[in-house]
Amino acid sequence: MHKFDVAIAGGGAIGLCTAYELAGRGFRVAVLDGSDARMASSYGNAGYVSPSLGPLSIDAREVEDVARWLARGAGSEGSIARSIARSIHTSMMEADGTRMGMLIRSMALESRDWYARMSGSLGFVYRQLGLIEVYLSRDGLERRLEHVKPLAYALGIPYRVLARDEVNALESAVRDTCYGAILYPDDAQIEPVTLIRALRDALRGSVVFLGSLERIVWDGYGKGRVESFQTSDARIHADAYILCTGAYRVEGLSLPVVAARGYMVELEGSGHMPRYPVLCGEHRVALSLHGRLRITGMFEPCSIGDPPVEENFARLVEWGGKYITLADARVADRWTGYRPCTPDGLPIIGRVGNCTSNLIVATGHCRLGMTLAPATARLMASLVEGRDGVPDALKPNRYALLREDGPVA
Ligand SMILES: Cc1cc2nc3c(=O)[nH]c(=O)nc-3n(C[C@H](O)[C@H](O)[C@H](O)COP(=O)(O)OP(=O)(O)OC[C@H]3O[C@@H](n4cnc5c(N)ncnc54)[C@H](O)[C@@H]3O)c2cc1C
Repeated sequence: MHKFDVAIAGGGAIGLCTAYELAGRGFRVAVLDGSDARMASSYGNAGYVSPSLGPLSIDAREVEDVARWLARGAGSEGSIARSIARSIHTSMMEADGTRMGMLIRSMALESRDWYARMSGSLGFVYRQLGLIEVYLSRDGLERRLEHVKPLAYALGIPYRVLARDEVNALESAVRDTCYGAILYPDDAQIEPVTLIRALRDALRGSVVFLGSLERIVWDGYGKGRVESFQTSDARIHADAYILCTGAYRVEGLSLPVVAARGYMVELEGSGHMPRYPVLCGEHRVALSLHGRLRITGMFEPCSIGDPPVEENFARLVEWGGKYITLADARVADRWTGYRPCTPDGLPIIGRVGNCTSNLIVATGHCRLGMTLAPATARLMASLVEGRDGVPDALKPNRYALLREDGPVA
């Protein structure tokens, strides 16, 4: 029989950071995941670590994408997607949004400090240069500032407005036709592939890696308790069971999470690589250096496995090329990933069911999974140790969760 202290399903940033935290505290941990690292959203993202919350707030174009998708018929996830569309409009702008913003920002700062501390010893790439949000037009920059100013004031987010000359002096890769930018000095960046590799390497000696979770097996007697995790060839038993499966559904529990697809293109041979992470303001497209130039963007609610929209890869390159010169660049890699989104735009972290439950989830980090992974892992490890420091706003019991055979106790 396979018996561990903790069994974690999902080996993306959230699952691996949680495994790392738990292993460091002496727990015997198993991580269940498939063999394809590219399935994780944690693989191909921009790697922005954003206490500025800049990438959180999206523009009308993305809201339109959501609306279009809803018009096409959103299937069983329709009501969740409608809520997401609503929360996109309101989340960071209203009073409650400000309170939540404070919470998320403090987790982001904690995570950024963890990355800064651990990058050397674990061996992943981390830089803290800040983030430059570049605008092509005066109108674009001014409209954005209307949104950013009150948010920055309420949350204490430092930022600086840069004129064209200042942008070019800071980052010469930005086209001199751009109008100006907002610099968020707090922000940092990791290279996600190096982080995932470094965590897996560090865990290899102490953590057992197993195949995917096929099904949660519920204990027929205890309310809200899991009996085991079933893989294709084994029953995994543990004292605590954790789900960090991102946007993917797991048989045995229904969580209010829908996937919003993002696209990534990596270019090589572009003569002029930006040193800074550059967010292309009007288009909400992120540019970052990962050895090659990585361009990511789009927010497309979808069902897992839906074919991607081919033209979107070319669109990313076209939009990125409006902000920096990509003349000789060649596409070296393309990828899509699923952001795990929740109706209120906040992650779901905590015990499923009552305080005697042995099932804990951490998912729904949407656009901020890399930004929040280490802080999430600390909350998860405390939960396993029996201390619940999770803010109520993030707990799963804010939703009515369903087991396959009825409500969770
Ligand atoms: C284009 C794009 C750009 C982004 N940019 C940023 C950014 O700059 N900064 C930022 O903070 N965030 C960013 N994000 C969001 C971030 O990538 C996600 O929030 C984060 O990766 C979620 O991590 P996760 O571990 O929850 O999920 P994932 O990374 O998706 O990991 C889930 C894992 O669970 C596994 N799994 C699924 N089902 C099972 C099962 N049954 N059994 C076992 N394992 C299973 C999957 O294979 C996967 O490995 C971006 C996302 C996208 C798509």
